[in-house]
Amino acid sequence: MFDAPPLPHYFSPEHTQFRDTLRGFVASEISPHINDWDEAGTFPRDLYRKAAALGILGLGYPEKYGGTPADIFYQIILAEEFARTGSGGIQASINSHTIALPPLIAAGSETLKRHIIPSVIAGEKIAALAVTEPSGGSDVASLCTTAIRDGDHYVVSGEKTFITSGMRADYLTVAVRTDPAVKGAGGISVLMIDGDTPGLTRTELKKMGWWCSDTAHLHFDHCRVPATNLVGTENRGFKTLMHNFNSERLFLSALAYGFAQVCLEEALAWAQQRKTFGHPLAERQVIRHKLMDMMLRVDAARSLVYDLAYCIEHGRGNTEHLVARICMAKVLSTQAMQFCADQAVQILGGMGFMRGTRSERIYREVKVMMIGGGSEEIMKDLAARKIGI
Ligand SMILES: Cc1cc2nc3c(=O)[nH]c(=O)nc-3n(C[C@H](O)[C@H](O)[C@H](O)COP(=O)(O)OP(=O)(O)OC[C@H]3O[C@@H](n4cnc5c(N)ncnc54)[C@H](O)[C@@H]3O)c2cc1C
Repeated sequence: MFDAPPLPHYFSPEHTQFRDTLRGFVASEISPHINDWDEAGTFPRDLYRKAAALGILGLGYPEKYGGTPADIFYQIILAEEFARTGSGGIQASINSHTIALPPLIAAGSETLKRHIIPSVIAGEKIAALAVTEPSGGSDVASLCTTAIRDGDHYVVSGEKTFITSGMRADYLTVAVRTDPAVKGAGGISVLMIDGDTPGLTRTELKKMGWWCSDTAHLHFDHCRVPATNLVGTENRGFKTLMHNFNSERLFLSALAYGFAQVCLEEALAWAQQRKTFGHPLAERQVIRHKLMDMMLRVDAARSLVYDLAYCIEHGRGNTEHLVARICMAKVLSTQAMQFCADQAVQILGGMGFMRGTRSERIYREVKVMMIGGGSEEIMKDLAARKIGI
Protein backbone atom coordinates (compact mmCIF):
# COMPACT_ATOMS: atom_id res chain seq x y z
CA MET A 1 0.00 0.00 0.00
CA PHE A 2 2.83 2.36 0.86
CA ASP A 3 5.05 1.39 -2.07
CA ALA A 4 5.84 4.45 -4.16
CA PRO A 5 4.46 4.11 -7.67
CA PRO A 6 7.51 3.08 -9.74
CA LEU A 7 7.24 5.82 -12.34
CA PRO A 8 7.54 4.49 -15.90
CA HIS A 9 10.29 6.93 -16.84
CA TYR A 10 12.45 5.54 -14.06
CA PHE A 11 11.79 1.80 -14.30
CA SER A 12 11.56 -0.46 -17.34
CA PRO A 13 9.93 -3.92 -17.44
CA GLU A 14 13.47 -5.36 -17.06
CA HIS A 15 13.97 -3.38 -13.86
CA THR A 16 10.69 -4.71 -12.53
CA GLN A 17 11.63 -8.26 -13.44
CA PHE A 18 14.93 -7.85 -11.60
CA ARG A 19 13.11 -6.45 -8.58
CA ASP A 20 10.75 -9.44 -8.51
CA THR A 21 13.64 -11.90 -8.73
CA LEU A 22 15.52 -10.12 -5.99
CA ARG A 23 12.46 -9.88 -3.78
CA GLY A 24 12.00 -13.64 -4.10
CA PHE A 25 15.65 -14.25 -3.26
CA VAL A 26 15.52 -12.04 -0.18
CA ALA A 27 12.24 -13.59 0.97
CA SER A 28 13.40 -17.19 0.60
CA GLU A 29 17.16 -17.10 1.22
CA ILE A 30 17.65 -14.28 3.74
CA SER A 31 14.57 -13.14 5.66
CA PRO A 32 13.73 -16.52 7.27
CA HIS A 33 17.26 -16.79 8.70
CA ILE A 34 18.26 -13.23 9.42
CA ASN A 35 17.41 -13.20 13.14
CA ASP A 36 19.43 -16.38 13.74
CA TRP A 37 22.36 -15.10 11.70
CA ASP A 38 22.35 -11.80 13.52
CA GLU A 39 22.30 -13.53 16.92
CA ALA A 40 25.11 -15.84 15.74
CA GLY A 41 27.13 -12.86 14.49
CA THR A 42 27.69 -14.43 11.10
CA PHE A 43 26.00 -15.96 8.04
CA PRO A 44 26.90 -18.83 5.69
CA ARG A 45 29.59 -18.00 3.18
CA ASP A 46 27.58 -19.93 0.64
CA LEU A 47 25.18 -16.97 0.42
CA TYR A 48 27.75 -15.15 -1.72
CA ARG A 49 27.61 -17.93 -4.31
CA LYS A 50 23.81 -17.96 -4.25
CA ALA A 51 23.70 -14.19 -4.76
CA ALA A 52 26.29 -14.48 -7.54
CA ALA A 53 24.25 -17.16 -9.31
CA LEU A 54 21.39 -14.67 -9.63
CA GLY A 55 23.73 -12.03 -11.03
CA ILE A 56 23.42 -9.85 -7.94
CA LEU A 57 27.15 -9.55 -7.24
CA GLY A 58 28.06 -8.85 -10.87
CA LEU A 59 25.50 -6.11 -11.34
CA GLY A 60 27.01 -3.16 -13.20
CA TYR A 61 30.33 -4.90 -13.93
CA PRO A 62 31.64 -5.52 -17.46
CA GLU A 63 30.73 -8.81 -19.11
CA LYS A 64 34.37 -9.65 -19.74
CA TYR A 65 34.80 -10.16 -15.98
CA GLY A 66 31.59 -12.13 -15.64
CA GLY A 67 29.39 -9.18 -14.78
CA THR A 68 26.17 -7.78 -16.17
CA PRO A 69 26.24 -4.13 -17.27
CA ALA A 70 23.37 -2.33 -15.57
CA ASP A 71 22.23 1.23 -15.06
CA ILE A 72 22.10 2.95 -11.71
CA PHE A 73 18.43 2.10 -11.10
CA TYR A 74 19.39 -1.57 -10.71
CA GLN A 75 21.64 -0.55 -7.81
CA ILE A 76 18.76 1.35 -6.28
CA ILE A 77 16.48 -1.67 -6.61
CA LEU A 78 19.22 -3.75 -5.00
CA ALA A 79 19.36 -1.42 -2.00
CA GLU A 80 15.57 -1.16 -1.66
CA GLU A 81 15.05 -4.91 -1.78
CA PHE A 82 17.91 -5.72 0.61
CA ALA A 83 16.40 -3.20 3.03
CA ARG A 84 13.34 -5.45 3.28
CA THR A 85 15.40 -7.83 5.44
CA GLY A 86 15.52 -5.06 8.04
CA SER A 87 19.20 -5.95 8.48
CA GLY A 88 22.02 -3.63 7.54
CA GLY A 89 24.63 -6.26 8.34
CA ILE A 90 23.71 -8.71 5.64
CA GLN A 91 23.75 -6.18 2.84
CA ALA A 92 26.95 -4.56 4.11
CA SER A 93 28.79 -7.88 3.89
CA ILE A 94 27.27 -9.25 0.72
CA ASN A 95 27.85 -5.92 -1.00
CA SER A 96 31.28 -5.02 0.42
CA HIS A 97 32.72 -5.56 -3.06
CA THR A 98 30.59 -2.64 -4.30
CA ILE A 99 32.94 -0.29 -2.47
CA ALA A 100 36.08 -2.44 -2.85
CA LEU A 101 36.02 -3.09 -6.60
CA PRO A 102 35.15 0.28 -8.18
CA PRO A 103 38.67 1.76 -7.61
CA LEU A 104 40.09 -1.31 -9.33
CA ILE A 105 37.60 -1.03 -12.20
CA ALA A 106 38.36 2.67 -12.58
CA ALA A 107 42.14 2.61 -12.40
CA GLY A 108 43.56 -0.92 -12.04
CA SER A 109 45.72 -2.78 -14.55
CA GLU A 110 44.01 -5.32 -16.78
CA THR A 111 46.03 -8.15 -15.19
CA LEU A 112 44.90 -7.16 -11.71
CA LYS A 113 41.29 -6.81 -12.83
CA ARG A 114 41.28 -10.25 -14.45
CA HIS A 115 42.91 -11.78 -11.40
CA ILE A 116 40.47 -10.36 -8.84
CA ILE A 117 37.11 -9.28 -10.27
CA PRO A 118 35.76 -12.53 -11.79
CA SER A 119 36.28 -14.56 -8.61
CA VAL A 120 34.64 -11.88 -6.44
CA ILE A 121 31.54 -11.44 -8.55
CA ALA A 122 31.26 -15.23 -8.83
CA GLY A 123 30.95 -15.29 -5.04
CA GLU A 124 34.11 -17.36 -4.62
CA LYS A 125 36.23 -14.62 -3.08
CA ILE A 126 35.37 -11.67 -0.85
CA ALA A 127 36.61 -8.11 -1.27
CA ALA A 128 36.67 -5.28 1.28
CA LEU A 129 37.64 -1.62 1.22
CA ALA A 130 40.06 -0.40 3.90
CA VAL A 131 40.33 3.39 4.15
CA THR A 132 39.46 4.33 7.75
CA GLU A 133 42.23 4.40 10.34
CA PRO A 134 42.15 4.60 14.15
CA SER A 135 43.27 8.25 13.90
CA GLY A 136 40.10 9.12 11.96
CA GLY A 137 37.91 8.28 9.00
CA SER A 138 36.41 11.62 7.99
CA ASP A 139 39.73 13.22 7.14
CA VAL A 140 40.85 10.67 4.54
CA ALA A 141 43.66 12.93 3.29
CA SER A 142 45.43 12.55 6.65
CA LEU A 143 45.75 8.78 6.56
CA CYS A 144 49.01 7.38 7.94
CA THR A 145 49.37 3.77 6.72
CA THR A 146 52.57 3.77 4.68
CA ALA A 147 53.57 1.77 1.62
CA ILE A 148 57.25 2.26 0.93
CA ARG A 149 58.69 1.02 -2.34
CA ASP A 150 61.39 -1.64 -1.95
CA GLY A 151 62.41 -3.14 -5.31
CA ASP A 152 59.44 -4.93 -6.85
CA HIS A 153 57.36 -4.55 -3.71
CA TYR A 154 55.75 -2.06 -1.39
CA VAL A 155 56.26 -2.56 2.33
CA VAL A 156 53.00 -1.71 4.06
CA SER A 157 52.80 -0.74 7.74
CA GLY A 158 49.91 0.73 9.66
CA GLU A 159 46.37 0.10 10.84
CA LYS A 160 42.87 0.21 9.41
CA THR A 161 39.73 -0.02 11.47
CA PHE A 162 35.95 -0.58 11.22
CA ILE A 163 36.48 -2.53 7.98
CA THR A 164 33.36 -4.33 6.72
CA SER A 165 34.13 -7.92 5.66
CA GLY A 166 37.61 -7.27 7.02
CA MET A 167 37.78 -10.67 8.75
CA ARG A 168 36.70 -12.71 5.75
CA ALA A 169 38.12 -10.68 2.88
CA ASP A 170 40.39 -12.44 0.40
CA TYR A 171 41.25 -9.12 -1.21
CA LEU A 172 41.60 -5.76 0.48
CA THR A 173 41.51 -2.49 -1.43
CA VAL A 174 43.71 -0.40 0.83
CA ALA A 175 44.34 3.34 0.91
CA VAL A 176 48.01 3.93 1.70
CA ARG A 177 50.50 6.77 1.83
CA THR A 178 53.19 6.06 -0.75
CA ASP A 179 54.92 9.38 -0.25
CA PRO A 180 55.29 10.05 3.48
CA ALA A 181 57.03 13.35 2.72
CA VAL A 182 53.74 14.68 1.30
CA LYS A 183 51.09 15.48 3.88
CA GLY A 184 47.50 15.44 2.67
CA ALA A 185 45.86 14.06 -0.45
CA GLY A 186 48.94 14.20 -2.66
CA GLY A 187 50.85 11.19 -1.34
CA ILE A 188 47.98 8.71 -1.30
CA SER A 189 47.70 5.57 -3.44
CA VAL A 190 45.48 2.52 -3.63
CA LEU A 191 46.91 -0.99 -3.27
CA MET A 192 45.23 -4.38 -3.61
CA ILE A 193 46.45 -6.57 -0.75
CA ASP A 194 45.82 -10.31 -0.49
CA GLY A 195 44.15 -11.39 2.71
CA ASP A 196 46.83 -14.02 3.37
CA THR A 197 49.79 -11.62 3.12
CA PRO A 198 52.31 -12.36 5.89
CA GLY A 199 52.32 -9.59 8.49
CA LEU A 200 48.57 -8.86 8.23
CA THR A 201 46.61 -9.59 11.40
CA ARG A 202 42.89 -9.03 11.91
CA THR A 203 40.78 -8.56 15.01
CA GLU A 204 36.98 -8.76 15.00
CA LEU A 205 35.12 -5.79 16.49
CA LYS A 206 31.85 -5.94 18.46
CA LYS A 207 29.22 -3.39 17.59
CA MET A 208 25.77 -1.89 18.28
CA GLY A 209 24.21 -3.34 15.14
CA TRP A 210 25.11 -5.09 11.88
CA TRP A 211 25.83 -8.14 14.04
CA CYS A 212 25.90 -10.72 11.24
CA SER A 213 28.45 -8.68 9.33
CA ASP A 214 32.10 -8.94 10.31
CA THR A 215 33.86 -5.69 11.07
CA ALA A 216 37.60 -5.80 11.55
CA HIS A 217 40.61 -3.94 12.80
CA LEU A 218 43.54 -4.65 10.50
CA HIS A 219 47.19 -4.42 11.43
CA PHE A 220 49.82 -4.35 8.68
CA ASP A 221 53.28 -5.12 9.96
CA HIS A 222 55.82 -4.73 7.14
CA CYS A 223 53.57 -6.56 4.66
CA ARG A 224 55.32 -7.07 1.34
CA VAL A 225 52.92 -6.36 -1.50
CA PRO A 226 53.90 -6.74 -5.19
CA ALA A 227 54.26 -3.33 -6.85
CA THR A 228 52.03 -4.66 -9.62
CA ASN A 229 49.16 -4.51 -7.10
CA LEU A 230 49.18 -0.72 -7.27
CA VAL A 231 45.84 0.59 -8.57
CA GLY A 232 46.35 3.49 -10.94
CA THR A 233 49.17 5.99 -10.63
CA GLU A 234 51.31 6.26 -7.53
CA ASN A 235 50.32 9.21 -5.29
CA ARG A 236 47.14 9.82 -7.30
CA GLY A 237 44.80 7.53 -5.40
CA PHE A 238 42.86 10.17 -3.48
CA LYS A 239 40.64 11.17 -6.40
CA THR A 240 39.82 7.53 -7.15
CA LEU A 241 38.78 7.02 -3.54
CA MET A 242 36.65 10.17 -3.47
CA HIS A 243 34.86 9.24 -6.68
CA ASN A 244 34.05 5.86 -5.13
CA PHE A 245 32.22 7.61 -2.29
CA ASN A 246 29.57 9.08 -4.62
CA SER A 247 28.16 5.72 -5.67
CA GLU A 248 28.45 4.38 -2.11
CA ARG A 249 26.51 7.36 -0.76
CA LEU A 250 23.73 7.06 -3.30
CA PHE A 251 23.42 3.35 -2.50
CA LEU A 252 23.38 4.09 1.26
CA SER A 253 20.66 6.69 0.68
CA ALA A 254 18.41 4.18 -1.09
CA LEU A 255 19.10 1.67 1.65
CA ALA A 256 18.26 4.20 4.37
CA TYR A 257 14.85 5.19 3.02
CA GLY A 258 14.30 1.48 2.34
CA PHE A 259 14.77 0.80 6.06
CA ALA A 260 12.52 3.76 6.85
CA GLN A 261 9.85 2.21 4.64
CA VAL A 262 10.16 -1.10 6.52
CA CYS A 263 9.55 0.75 9.80
CA LEU A 264 6.55 2.47 8.29
CA GLU A 265 5.07 -0.82 7.08
CA GLU A 266 5.69 -2.58 10.39
CA ALA A 267 4.18 0.30 12.38
CA LEU A 268 1.15 0.52 10.08
CA ALA A 269 0.42 -3.22 10.30
CA TRP A 270 0.69 -3.06 14.09
CA ALA A 271 -1.44 0.07 14.37
CA GLN A 272 -4.19 -1.56 12.32
CA GLN A 273 -4.43 -4.72 14.40
CA ARG A 274 -3.52 -3.49 17.90
CA LYS A 275 -6.57 -2.37 19.89
CA THR A 276 -6.37 -0.11 22.93
CA PHE A 277 -9.42 1.21 24.75
CA GLY A 278 -11.61 -0.69 22.31
CA HIS A 279 -10.22 0.77 19.09
CA PRO A 280 -7.33 0.02 16.71
CA LEU A 281 -4.40 2.36 17.21
CA ALA A 282 -4.68 3.39 13.55
CA GLU A 283 -7.97 5.14 14.34
CA ARG A 284 -6.26 7.58 16.71
CA GLN A 285 -5.39 10.84 15.04
CA VAL A 286 -2.10 11.11 16.88
CA ILE A 287 -1.02 7.72 15.48
CA ARG A 288 -2.27 8.54 11.98
CA HIS A 289 -0.21 11.73 12.06
CA LYS A 290 2.86 9.76 13.07
CA LEU A 291 2.33 7.42 10.13
CA MET A 292 1.92 10.33 7.74
CA ASP A 293 5.01 12.06 9.12
CA MET A 294 6.91 8.85 8.41
CA MET A 295 5.49 8.47 4.95
CA LEU A 296 6.25 12.00 3.83
CA ARG A 297 9.89 11.61 4.86
CA VAL A 298 10.24 8.32 3.00
CA ASP A 299 8.61 9.79 -0.06
CA ALA A 300 10.80 12.91 -0.04
CA ALA A 301 14.02 10.92 0.34
CA ARG A 302 13.04 8.41 -2.32
CA SER A 303 12.02 11.16 -4.76
CA LEU A 304 15.36 12.89 -4.36
CA VAL A 305 17.29 9.66 -4.93
CA TYR A 306 15.26 8.74 -8.03
CA ASP A 307 15.74 12.21 -9.46
CA LEU A 308 19.47 12.09 -8.77
CA ALA A 309 19.78 8.66 -10.35
CA TYR A 310 17.96 9.96 -13.40
CA CYS A 311 20.25 13.00 -13.65
CA ILE A 312 23.40 10.86 -13.28
CA GLU A 313 22.18 8.27 -15.77
CA HIS A 314 21.27 10.91 -18.37
CA GLY A 315 24.24 13.22 -17.75
CA ARG A 316 22.05 16.08 -16.56
CA GLY A 317 23.32 18.75 -14.22
CA ASN A 318 26.65 20.09 -13.18
CA THR A 319 28.95 17.56 -11.50
CA GLU A 320 29.66 19.68 -8.42
CA HIS A 321 25.95 20.15 -7.82
CA LEU A 322 25.29 16.45 -8.29
CA VAL A 323 27.89 15.62 -5.65
CA ALA A 324 26.24 18.15 -3.32
CA ARG A 325 22.82 16.61 -3.91
CA ILE A 326 24.18 13.11 -3.26
CA CYS A 327 25.46 14.37 0.10
CA MET A 328 22.05 15.91 0.81
CA ALA A 329 20.31 12.68 -0.20
CA LYS A 330 22.39 10.75 2.32
CA VAL A 331 21.48 13.21 5.07
CA LEU A 332 17.78 13.31 4.15
CA SER A 333 17.49 9.52 3.85
CA THR A 334 19.31 8.67 7.05
CA GLN A 335 17.31 11.29 8.94
CA ALA A 336 14.14 9.71 7.51
CA MET A 337 15.40 6.34 8.70
CA GLN A 338 16.13 7.69 12.17
CA PHE A 339 12.73 9.37 12.45
CA CYS A 340 10.82 6.35 11.17
CA ALA A 341 12.69 3.88 13.39
CA ASP A 342 11.95 6.05 16.42
CA GLN A 343 8.25 6.43 15.57
CA ALA A 344 7.84 2.75 14.71
CA VAL A 345 9.32 1.57 18.00
CA GLN A 346 7.01 3.99 19.81
CA ILE A 347 3.93 2.74 17.96
CA LEU A 348 4.91 -0.89 18.54
CA GLY A 349 5.24 -0.15 22.25
CA GLY A 350 6.99 -2.87 24.27
CA MET A 351 7.02 -5.10 21.22
CA GLY A 352 9.22 -2.54 19.49
CA PHE A 353 11.85 -3.06 22.16
CA MET A 354 11.92 -6.83 21.60
CA ARG A 355 14.40 -8.62 19.40
CA GLY A 356 12.70 -10.01 16.33
CA THR A 357 10.89 -6.94 15.12
CA ARG A 358 12.64 -5.29 12.21
CA SER A 359 12.06 -1.85 13.71
CA GLU A 360 14.04 -2.81 16.82
CA ARG A 361 17.06 -3.73 14.70
CA ILE A 362 16.72 -0.73 12.43
CA TYR A 363 16.53 1.54 15.50
CA ARG A 364 19.93 0.16 16.61
CA GLU A 365 21.42 0.34 13.16
CA VAL A 366 20.54 3.87 12.14
CA LYS A 367 23.64 5.40 13.66
CA VAL A 368 26.06 3.54 11.43
CA MET A 369 24.10 4.78 8.43
CA MET A 370 24.55 8.37 9.66
CA ILE A 371 28.29 7.85 10.22
CA GLY A 372 29.60 5.32 7.68
CA GLY A 373 30.48 6.32 4.13
CA GLY A 374 30.66 9.98 5.19
CA SER A 375 29.05 11.29 8.36
CA GLU A 376 26.19 13.76 8.44
CA GLU A 377 28.46 16.66 9.41
CA ILE A 378 30.93 15.87 6.64
CA MET A 379 28.08 15.49 4.10
CA LYS A 380 26.68 18.92 4.93
CA ASP A 381 30.11 20.51 4.84
CA LEU A 382 30.99 18.92 1.50
CA ALA A 383 27.61 19.86 0.00
CA ALA A 384 28.07 23.47 1.10
CA ARG A 385 31.54 23.62 -0.46
CA LYS A 386 30.34 22.04 -3.71
CA ILE A 387 27.60 24.61 -4.17
CA GLY A 388 29.99 27.42 -3.27
CA ILE A 389 28.83 28.42 0.21
C1 LIG B 1 30.00 -0.68 11.14
C2 LIG B 1 30.95 0.17 10.37
C3 LIG B 1 31.43 -0.29 9.16
C4 LIG B 1 32.37 0.46 8.45
N1 LIG B 1 32.91 -0.05 7.30
C5 LIG B 1 33.97 0.57 6.72
C6 LIG B 1 34.66 -0.02 5.61
O1 LIG B 1 34.28 -1.07 5.10
N2 LIG B 1 35.75 0.61 5.13
C7 LIG B 1 36.22 1.79 5.65
O2 LIG B 1 37.23 2.30 5.18
N3 LIG B 1 35.57 2.40 6.70
C8 LIG B 1 34.47 1.81 7.23
N4 LIG B 1 33.81 2.40 8.29
C9 LIG B 1 34.32 3.67 8.81
C10 LIG B 1 33.44 4.87 8.54
O3 LIG B 1 33.49 5.24 7.20
C11 LIG B 1 33.93 5.98 9.52
O4 LIG B 1 33.49 5.59 10.80
C12 LIG B 1 33.43 7.33 9.14
O5 LIG B 1 34.03 7.79 7.95
C13 LIG B 1 33.73 8.37 10.26
O6 LIG B 1 35.07 8.29 10.66
P1 LIG B 1 35.42 8.14 12.21
O7 LIG B 1 34.59 7.07 12.78
O8 LIG B 1 36.88 8.00 12.34
O9 LIG B 1 34.96 9.49 12.89
P2 LIG B 1 35.77 10.88 12.94
O10 LIG B 1 36.26 11.21 11.59
O11 LIG B 1 36.76 10.83 14.04
O12 LIG B 1 34.61 11.88 13.33
C14 LIG B 1 33.98 11.79 14.62
C15 LIG B 1 32.77 12.73 14.62
O13 LIG B 1 33.20 14.06 14.40
C16 LIG B 1 32.54 14.60 13.27
N5 LIG B 1 33.46 15.43 12.53
C17 LIG B 1 34.64 15.07 11.98
N6 LIG B 1 35.21 16.11 11.37
C18 LIG B 1 34.37 17.15 11.50
C19 LIG B 1 34.38 18.51 11.08
N7 LIG B 1 35.37 18.99 10.33
N8 LIG B 1 33.34 19.30 11.41
C20 LIG B 1 32.32 18.83 12.15
N9 LIG B 1 32.24 17.56 12.58
C21 LIG B 1 33.26 16.73 12.26
C22 LIG B 1 32.09 13.41 12.44
O14 LIG B 1 30.99 13.73 11.64
C23 LIG B 1 31.75 12.42 13.53
O15 LIG B 1 30.44 12.69 13.99
C24 LIG B 1 32.81 1.70 8.96
C25 LIG B 1 32.28 2.19 10.17
C26 LIG B 1 31.37 1.44 10.87
C27 LIG B 1 30.85 1.98 12.17
